[in-house]
Amino acid sequence: MSIFGNSIFGNKAPGVVGGPQDGSAHGATDEENTGRKSDAQWRKELTPEEYHVLRQAGTERPYTGEYWDTHTEGVYQCRACGAELFTSNEKFDSHCGWPSFWAPLAEGNVRYIHDRTLGMDRIEVRCGSCDSHLGHVFEGEGYGTPTDQRYCINSVSLRLVAKGGAGDGAPQN
Ligand SMILES: [Zn+2]
Repeated sequence: MSIFGNSIFGNKAPGVVGGPQDGSAHGATDEENTGRKSDAQWRKELTPEEYHVLRQAGTERPYTGEYWDTHTEGVYQCRACGAELFTSNEKFDSHCGWPSFWAPLAEGNVRYIHDRTLGMDRIEVRCGSCDSHLGHVFEGEGYGTPTDQRYCINSVSLRLVAKGGAGDGAPQN
């Protein structure tokens, strides 16, 4: 149930969506069709900060990101590949300094990895399409949300597409 159109299930156009301008594509091989890019490719397409968080599982400093206190209605896409990951409907004020969601847009849009680095036991959240690092998910913290989960996501991993920006009058539904 996508509220903003049809894009979650049709969003398989790799390369075109997320990349800023990259002048010369080295031929659209199936490396791009599967969303897998080389490390050099990622370095070229992402800013240093984006690369550090998305591809090296870094974490932006709290209260510094673009979206931690954003209430704009819209869809949050993966900054690396453009896949739709979260929406403003599930965003809530956790006051932790990072954008927080109580659920992803749909299960399957993100994937989970057990992360035992830094002496902690956490669940890492990655983009289901391009495998970029997004953040972590925590459970049972007592936030008054439907799932009692907090997807603690780096702003720099996301790109907000405000509602109504694109064609709104989709004829389906
Ligand atoms: Zn992605």
